[in-house]
Amino acid sequence: MKTSSRVGCLFCKADVEVSDLLATVEGHNPVCDSVGARCPACGESLELRVSGRTLAVGYTYWAGSMHFEAMSEVRVPGLERVACGPGEWAASLDGITFLARVPGSLLQM
Ligand SMILES: [Zn+2]
Repeated sequence: MKTSSRVGCLFCKADVEVSDLLATVEGHNPVCDSVGARCPACGESLELRVSGRTLAVGYTYWAGSMHFEAMSEVRVPGLERVACGPGEWAASLDGITFLARVPGSLLQM
């Protein structure tokens, strides 16, 4: 796995800064532990998963249950998950914390 602070978009193939991508996160999917994001270059929706220092870019699909399929993975120096409350997802990179929440429609109980 390569080490980089940039990752390729699955759609437009642009090499985008991981921090620019993380700035767009919204909608944590607790089932897959993935989080939605938007390519800063083309605006297409991407799914991300952060585990340790590894950022996976892929998509989710339904096959009886939700699955996350990683299409590319990079090791990002300084990237880490941050502990946060239920219904939230947070990761930090270079001292900046990026926060996403479970979509409000799932929390309106
Ligand atoms: Zn793109």
